[in-house]
Amino acid sequence: MEQLNIGWVGLGNMGMPMSAQLIKAGYKLNVFNRSKDKAQSLLNSGAEVVSSPRDLVAISDIIFVMVSDDAAIKQIFTGADGLLEQDLSNKIIINMSTVSPGISIEMASLCKTKGGAYLDAPVSGSVKQAETGTLVIMVGGDEAAFNKVKPVFEKLGKLAMLVGETGAGNNAKLAINGLLALHAQGLAEAILFAQSKNIDTQSLLTLIENSALGNIFSKIKGEAIVNDNYNAAFALKHIVKDLNLAKAEGLVSPLAKTTLATYEDAAQEHENEDIIAVFKALKY
Ligand code: NAP
Repeated sequence: MEQLNIGWVGLGNMGMPMSAQLIKAGYKLNVFNRSKDKAQSLLNSGAEVVSSPRDLVAISDIIFVMVSDDAAIKQIFTGADGLLEQDLSNKIIINMSTVSPGISIEMASLCKTKGGAYLDAPVSGSVKQAETGTLVIMVGGDEAAFNKVKPVFEKLGKLAMLVGETGAGNNAKLAINGLLALHAQGLAEAILFAQSKNIDTQSLLTLIENSALGNIFSKIKGEAIVNDNYNAAFALKHIVKDLNLAKAEGLVSPLAKTTLATYEDAAQEHENEDIIAVFKALKY
């Protein structure tokens, strides 16, 4: 394993298990999170906690960023003590957050002026896949940078694919999350309809699981509905963000319009709960 010093920004639902995965793989990790308390548990695993993105760059060869949205990316890159305050010669910044292709193009260009490379590398999969290193990673950017980071991607995911130039990873991710939104809404509506006909939910889920429509998403989210557990693995507010990003990129098909309206409505009461809380919003 090449001895890379890895920097990690963002220890939310995804960033925490992903960074822990790299520590487990034996990498030396330097971490930054806006809310300092979240970094403490990684301290015990030998990670070095720094107080700004700027300080992180100074001691890291490649820097991963896993934060909420475009606004957070702007803050991390261009804010006071941001990543871009350092010389980035020979460094690669990998943005794994689900953000707009536009902000990737902007940040890639700013990184270049500082001598560094930028990859957009959003992921498909949620907390369970993050914990087991089985995410799917879609990457936009320079092939040489991709090849250098690939061994690290392989510790985080079961597939890392270069799909095109800067922003291509972001666009691929928006396509997938459009489908995810449909899937969660469809599952919720199927269960609600079956319940209205007095069909037991667990029985319906067993039927779905054994049918051609069975998949891991329906299994996990179906169980969440049965257990009345709406703690966020993927917060509902994030799918609203993603559907709006997709809309801005031109995804205005009939189903895309419907899901955006559904989740915007659901977010009024359930934004910090899991995406499958759309079930509760559709129920009433
Ligand atoms: P999350 O739990 O909401 O965590 C968000 C992270 O971003 C936290 O570390 C937060 O810091 C940081 N952050 C937010 N605003 C910031 C700002 N202005 N400046 C600096 N840091 C800021 O989100 P998540 O579920 O880990 O998701 C992260 C990204 O991955 C999102 O783009 C999401 O759409 C995407 N994603 C999520 C999933 C999933 O299943 N959860 C799956 C695939 C992709 P604090 O701790 O200080 O709040």
